[in-house]
Amino acid sequence: MADKSIVDGVSGQVEKRPNSLEFPEKSSQTAENSRSNERVFSPDSARRHRFFAGPSKFAAVVGQVIGPKNHNVFQTLQETLEVLKDEAEVSRDSHKKEGLWCHPFEIPRHPIEQIQMKNEEIDLERQQSKMIEGLTPDDFSEIEQVLKKDKDDDLDHCAERLPFYQRLSISGGDISGVSIDELQQAAKLLVEALFIRSKYMAMSMQSFCSTTARKLKTVHEDFDTEAHYFHLKRPSIDDDLDTCPLQPFSIQSPYDIEIPGDCGYIFEMIDGVYHITACKRDVSGDSDFSVSDSAQPVMHPAPNLHEFFEDQNILLALSTHGPIKSFAHRRLKYLDSRHSLHSLLNENRELAAMKDVPHRDFYNVRKVDTHVHGASCMNHKHLLRFIKRKMKYNAEDLVTVHEGREITLREVFAMLKLTPYDLSVDRLDVHADRNTFHRFDKFNTKYNPVGESRLREIFLKTDNHINGRYFAEMLKEVIADLEESKYQNAEYRISIYGRAKNEWDILASWAVQHNMYSDNVRWLIQIPRLYDIYHSKNLVNNFQDMLENIFHPLFEATVNPQAHPDLHKFLTQVIGFDSVDDESKAESHLFSTKSPLPVDWNNTENPPYAYYLYYLYSNMVVLNHLRKERGFNTFVLRPHCGEAGPAHHLVSAFMLAENISHGLLLRKVPALQYLYYLAQIGIAMSPLSNNSLFLNYQRNPLPDFLGRGLMISLSTDDPLMFHFTKEPLMEEYSIAAQVWKLSPCDMSELARNSVVMSGFENKVKRHWIGDNYGKEGTAGNDVTKTNVPDIRVAFRHETLVEELSTLCTAARV
Ligand SMILES: [Zn+2]
Repeated sequence: MADKSIVDGVSGQVEKRPNSLEFPEKSSQTAENSRSNERVFSPDSARRHRFFAGPSKFAAVVGQVIGPKNHNVFQTLQETLEVLKDEAEVSRDSHKKEGLWCHPFEIPRHPIEQIQMKNEEIDLERQQSKMIEGLTPDDFSEIEQVLKKDKDDDLDHCAERLPFYQRLSISGGDISGVSIDELQQAAKLLVEALFIRSKYMAMSMQSFCSTTARKLKTVHEDFDTEAHYFHLKRPSIDDDLDTCPLQPFSIQSPYDIEIPGDCGYIFEMIDGVYHITACKRDVSGDSDFSVSDSAQPVMHPAPNLHEFFEDQNILLALSTHGPIKSFAHRRLKYLDSRHSLHSLLNENRELAAMKDVPHRDFYNVRKVDTHVHGASCMNHKHLLRFIKRKMKYNAEDLVTVHEGREITLREVFAMLKLTPYDLSVDRLDVHADRNTFHRFDKFNTKYNPVGESRLREIFLKTDNHINGRYFAEMLKEVIADLEESKYQNAEYRISIYGRAKNEWDILASWAVQHNMYSDNVRWLIQIPRLYDIYHSKNLVNNFQDMLENIFHPLFEATVNPQAHPDLHKFLTQVIGFDSVDDESKAESHLFSTKSPLPVDWNNTENPPYAYYLYYLYSNMVVLNHLRKERGFNTFVLRPHCGEAGPAHHLVSAFMLAENISHGLLLRKVPALQYLYYLAQIGIAMSPLSNNSLFLNYQRNPLPDFLGRGLMISLSTDDPLMFHFTKEPLMEEYSIAAQVWKLSPCDMSELARNSVVMSGFENKVKRHWIGDNYGKEGTAGNDVTKTNVPDIRVAFRHETLVEELSTLCTAARV
């Protein structure tokens, strides 16, 4: 704990010491008679006055140099000194020891940041020692008992190894900083919100923070979502512990698998959501299916739209409720301070613990780029080299069709009046620049090399005249770099638009034909929110058409994989869905009971964000249950959310999504930020991307979020637009570490978070970050693999447990 002598040094010692200097004494008498000195020596400035009364080297020097007669000069100097902050006194004494202190009017010998940092440290120490000052020995023993009980209740629960470090404890019963009434009111609503999320996560087989789930159960037995949805229970991590060891794809291709047969289900879209309506089990007879009417659609539950609106209303009200806002704000501030104190007291211990781990360092811990788009995963120099190489060696490839005739790459360049020699990264013009700030439309056009959509079509699409060959080749080069680096992994987004039913088959055959798989890569399907554009081009009549185009092939491939063999293979490598587009576009419609059903959504207006998310989620729920029943992998929802636009997008994602990308707007909605913390929802942040589009780097909330303990990972978003090097993820870490002065422990924590929140299979995660990674607290940490010291993990876990305990206890009353 902090050194008490610092505070004593200020308030006790100095007061008692007799004034050994005559000169300040005299000057104070002079001051009493003068008009101007009332202010200088007013009772308010008594503390500052003591600064002179003390054995100040500075005051003595002033006395000697100026002499007692030179009152005016001295008064001016005193007034100047008056404005020096109190901290100067405190910092001087302590800094002297460390050689940091210098004369206030001299240029400091040490950089200002160092002194500032020291001042902040002193501040914190003072705060902390004040905290302890008022305690009696009885209080201490009470704290010890509470701590011991907490440990018994929470930490021993998971047989945790408790590392030794300087723990912080707040005593005095109610530690929330608000009145009991306020606490109870806030706690009830927050716990209700967490329960709502746990319900939607359980229903869709997405993950929910196990610590939070355990604590929720203590509030009300109904809050045990696992018991509620016992038949939907996700396989626990232990379930597949005994399965075969991790097999690298170099030994066995994931596409080299048997294709299962038809399971005989009949499915149908009802009100925008697919349901299993009947079962034709007898699939042996070719066409004479005996359709059984007794098949229960209940087996594949779907969310209820009315219940969704009720839950959504609770959360919308909560996120704007004044008292909750201030309560959450206070708690977030507290988490901030707690983290600062923890760093102050334990930074060196954490570093020492990391040094003790042989072999492991930041470079060889696994990290996942949790948010990156396939079409922009290479940097601009790479794209340029690739295009030049194709022009040099493959100029006669028939790459596209123009006016009914196949034309070669050379002809395309001739039509664009370009030669390979002309091309440079400047000419390519795919990098985001200052003109893209708050201009998502301009940013979107950057996907077109040299401003030509034709080149984008040829080089960056999976569905084109050459069946996406160039794109696959380029992607493979990027993947080869990842494999070479071994410790970097990525989750690439590939588009499905929902314009036609054959999109999935085309994408899957592209992936299988080009062997698009890697131990380091998994795929997410991004669905752009572009209904209005497809409708205006008469590609779809209503929103339900779009949903059918997206989900019908998936249900078909799950019910009868032999009808879509490539798609079945490809889906083994797909981890979930992403919803993408410009969030700052205006939304005139609010998703409510008055909203038309998807089949009736046939106007030109684009449905709102929540509408897209709800129908993606609902169809995914039924699909996941079907896939689970068939023993296939299930999917998660990981939308872009909170990058710009209205904050209520974060409410939809809080309910429906396993984790999100961006989350910048959480900085404006403390209630939701606090809930994202309590539920430990993963947030893949891309500060370099934000810097070009929505928020300057220095204003990015990432360091605050990370400090408070939100589940943050770093990701690149679009290396083609934002990065310069062959290792964009390392570039992202490097810049963040330097700008925000992240410690090696912070960086390893970010890397570990990225693996935890990624969609890689349990088996892979266990190999990367330890067999027990799903367990709570330090029991789930393997420092030899993650390089995150147990001290940090214990601090995070204990803080979360304390926070949840306070809320759950208050909500129980
Ligand atoms: Zn993105």
